[in-house]
Amino acid sequence: MIELRMSQIGGCPKNIVAAQLGFEESPAPEYLGLAAQEGQLHEKAILAELQEKGYDPRDFQKEVRLEFPAAILIGHIDATVKMDGRRRLLEIKALGRFQFQKFISKGIVAFPEYAYQLSSYMFALGDEYLPALFWVKCRDSGKQTCIEFPEPPLQKDAIERRIELIANHVERKELPFIEYDEEKCRWCLRKYLCSPHEDSKQIDDLSLRQAANLYREGRQLTKIGQAYIDEAREIFRRKAIITPNYQVDNIRVLLYKQHREIVDKNILIQIFGAERIAPAIKKQEVETLRVIDLLEE
Ligand code: SF4
Repeated sequence: MIELRMSQIGGCPKNIVAAQLGFEESPAPEYLGLAAQEGQLHEKAILAELQEKGYDPRDFQKEVRLEFPAAILIGHIDATVKMDGRRRLLEIKALGRFQFQKFISKGIVAFPEYAYQLSSYMFALGDEYLPALFWVKCRDSGKQTCIEFPEPPLQKDAIERRIELIANHVERKELPFIEYDEEKCRWCLRKYLCSPHEDSKQIDDLSLRQAANLYREGRQLTKIGQAYIDEAREIFRRKAIITPNYQVDNIRVLLYKQHREIVDKNILIQIFGAERIAPAIKKQEVETLRVIDLLEE
């Protein structure tokens, strides 16, 4: 049974399947690492604030598991806090200005990764830790909002269907088709699987030199091959003059005459007229040698 991370199952299925099949990530740009570090600082600051206010945050990065027939989901919650007399699940996100605005106007449905992650945590922990708290902070302005989820934003069936899709593709060792989208795929570290430009970017000097050698060698081999074929055809032709239809080592040789019609352009021009071009057509007998490799048919 495959293991999947709760924080990733809402992401691109092609990327998830590729990771399971061993496709490596490209090196991450430095700013992605810095954004992740900054996110952790914001998370610590929010937890410290909640501690001060007496919400008693605990269970930091506690592992939770959720099992389905096709896969097991593993996640690490940010924390639990005590509020209104009961312990609740707490998930914290620090977003850039534009993402924060998007969250405020559209909610968690506009962030499938968060919706799948939070729902998985909630199903894994059970009703005891509800309602869950989803705390979102803007990294640029410091604004914060906290949404209460009395129940998971997604049904368990929706999670199961997604997992089955991923597991089926992993089992068949086949990447699902997902259309490349310049905007949505911006931060993907396996872009080389999809972007038409990424493929071209990976062609370096060494690959070009190897291609030049291959091209040259291929041309040489083609010439040698053609010389072999010409030599053999000449021997076949000489034998066919006496025996016009024969077979040797599963190769059939046929020598026969064909009639071709050739139009004499000068006469055609002089006559200039469709009905009157007949005199311009000459019949000529052409010798044709057909060599058929019966093993190739
Ligand atoms: S580039 Fe886009 S479609 Fe391709 S694997 Fe990454 S996220 Fe998925």
